[in-house]
Amino acid sequence: MNKKILVTGGAGYIGSHTVAQLCEDGYDVVILDNLSTSCEESVVRLRKITGKEIPLYKVDIRDTDNVRKVLREEKIEAIIHFAAYSLVGESMTNPLKYYENNLYGTKQLLEAMTEEKVDKIVFSSTAATYGEPKSIPILETDETNPTNTYGETKLSMEKMFKWTANAHGLRYVSLRYFNACGAHESGLIGEAHNPETHLIPIILQAAAGVRESISVYGTDYPTRDGTCVRDYIHVYDLAKAHVAAVKYLIDGGKSDIFNLGTEIGSTVKEVIDAAKKITGKAIKVVYGERRAGDPAVLTASNKKAREVLGWKPEKTMEDIISSAWKWHSNNPHGYKK
Ligand code: UDP
Repeated sequence: MNKKILVTGGAGYIGSHTVAQLCEDGYDVVILDNLSTSCEESVVRLRKITGKEIPLYKVDIRDTDNVRKVLREEKIEAIIHFAAYSLVGESMTNPLKYYENNLYGTKQLLEAMTEEKVDKIVFSSTAATYGEPKSIPILETDETNPTNTYGETKLSMEKMFKWTANAHGLRYVSLRYFNACGAHESGLIGEAHNPETHLIPIILQAAAGVRESISVYGTDYPTRDGTCVRDYIHVYDLAKAHVAAVKYLIDGGKSDIFNLGTEIGSTVKEVIDAAKKITGKAIKVVYGERRAGDPAVLTASNKKAREVLGWKPEKTMEDIISSAWKWHSNNPHGYKK
């Protein structure tokens, strides 16, 4: 029998791409999502991409009784946990919303897991757990000092896994992503946030004429061209890493934390130049002030994930932009008709 994986937040951006990859690699997948920041249309499209039924349970992770029922009835082997709020700006103006959903929600999910004896979980974490880095590239052993509520809740969630694993014998893998971007090769699923705050979708909206221009936040950073350097990683590579992490746990691997990045840094100007080249469109650029809380350079060491999970990123910046461009050109308003 195929192993059945429950994906919380499977209708969302990284969740949906991971569902596609799990199906391709022969897993049975069940999605649990309250659709608060995503929509059912992504699941409809996932069924089209994979040719599989993919049940969707419209359940909130805080609803322990119904989560337990799904775990029991679907005979779930392992969970991949994406369901969380993830907007840095909003987490600063409404921190308790983040504690309520990200921390309390995860506590409720862990409650259901321990009751139903589901003992493996892969967790969607973030480079925001590190805060301002002391050295580059960032290692998993580096200090964690989040500079925003979002990162703080993700770090607290990691710690909740650690102590719960200790007490109840479950095992977890926490994946700290750097800058997730790109879209599925089909052009059917991709990044659709509302409001959009991320660099690549904003650049492509400017290219598509949905937005007038892109503002570059700061040109006086100590980097090669004065703009911030980030480690952009294709959502396909992230999806592959989640599948590798599930397999690692099923094969008996111990609880651990891994960075997911390419180790290659790109400046904001370099990303804009790549987008101009690939789309062939004029993109209006406005140079502005720094955005509060943005470190100059963030790149990951991915040595540990390569060595322990046997994973390595395959996609280039060109792949990222061209896949995202296909998605944005076909769906200028995301999943909205
Ligand atoms: N950025 C920018 N203009 C925008 C959005 C982002 O110049 O409209 C810059 C931002 O300062 C950062 C990089 O692009 O250096 C990536 O930002 P994003 O919000 O996509 O991800 P983050 O690194 O904050 O997780």
